[in-house]
Amino acid sequence: MNNIYSHCPRSDLLPLAPIGISDSYMVESLSSYLTRVATMHYLPLRWFLRDYLNPIANQGNLSDDIFDRYGFSAINGYREKAAAYLSAIQKATGRFDLWQLTTTPWQTLLDTRGKGLFAKQKKWCRACFHDWLADNSPLYEPLIWSLESVKTCPRHNCLLMSVCSICNNQQKLVSSVLPVGYCSSCGGFLGKGESSTKTLSSKETYIVKMVAERRRLMQCKDLKKEFVIGIQHVLSASNLSSTLKLERTISFSRDTISQWCSNAKRGTRPTMSSLLCFCDAIGVSPDDLLLNHKNIIVNLKEAKIERRQELSKEKCKEVIFRALVIVVESQKDIIPLSKVAKDLDVGKRFLEYNFPVLVKQLIFNNNKLRSERKKSLEH
Ligand SMILES: [Zn+2]
Ligand SMILES: [Zn+2]
Repeated sequence: MNNIYSHCPRSDLLPLAPIGISDSYMVESLSSYLTRVATMHYLPLRWFLRDYLNPIANQGNLSDDIFDRYGFSAINGYREKAAAYLSAIQKATGRFDLWQLTTTPWQTLLDTRGKGLFAKQKKWCRACFHDWLADNSPLYEPLIWSLESVKTCPRHNCLLMSVCSICNNQQKLVSSVLPVGYCSSCGGFLGKGESSTKTLSSKETYIVKMVAERRRLMQCKDLKKEFVIGIQHVLSASNLSSTLKLERTISFSRDTISQWCSNAKRGTRPTMSSLLCFCDAIGVSPDDLLLNHKNIIVNLKEAKIERRQELSKEKCKEVIFRALVIVVESQKDIIPLSKVAKDLDVGKRFLEYNFPVLVKQLIFNNNKLRSERKKSLEH
């Protein structure tokens, strides 16, 4: 009997199957998957993260921000924290296909911080929840609902909801206690109420397709390189001799496309929002631009750039101050000031001038960690 089981792979958690893992744009998000795994083990997600996943993912104490503010990017994204959670849950469930529940396939293309990729508040399709409950199918949250650029349900052509129809409250980004599909304020079912009809915009169609194409995108080792080759094809298909001329033709911000194409240090990667704006302006879908260079047929028009709300100088400082406090207070590892400045999109001097006490604390923490590390190596 023992021999039979010795051939079976073992995992700590039951290997719950994610939903929509076949080539569907309705693939589940990792934040939804974690909530369902916790529920299956009769735990609220808060406890599951605090007592089980955080320790094995080396994530230290659980912060409330993960439920309220940055849970989507910390779990469904591709930055360091998300990678640690992904690796831990893949090992614990023995399911190594869970990367599909995240934006990992876009990591080699988009900006390192994933700026504006995820929505700041939870959205859901009332009709999807309603259908799944009526069919006795599990309730889950697709990855596309967590993305900032998606506001419409592609299955029902209706606007995604963002407040509970019973209590009118917004939801926690990631449910800390209740199972998926129930209001974090009143506990009511989120599949109730009415939603307005809306058709998918071209940008929404593009991003939904990028989710559906995740396996092909993941197979490509360097999407940024393919992106630059794609832009060169766009230039020749539109008989333009330079990126500067392309920027002028589609009224794109000066130097943006040139910097995407630059190999030099100052070369940048697109944010999801700028990528969608660019694709919309040239009339080429991101997957054609990246993976089907020979099929690129352009249809240039003026870009509709969504300008970020201009922050006032003081407001900007306040945001940076809060972010810096979080870095210093939760510091577990040596973080050079230059890295902190880069992550916050400001210069080192700016931080030293405006927040001398916090910078001093950061340097103190770094020195302390350095000497502790040195001591442990000596023993
Ligand atoms: Zn729907
Ligand atoms: Zn409610």
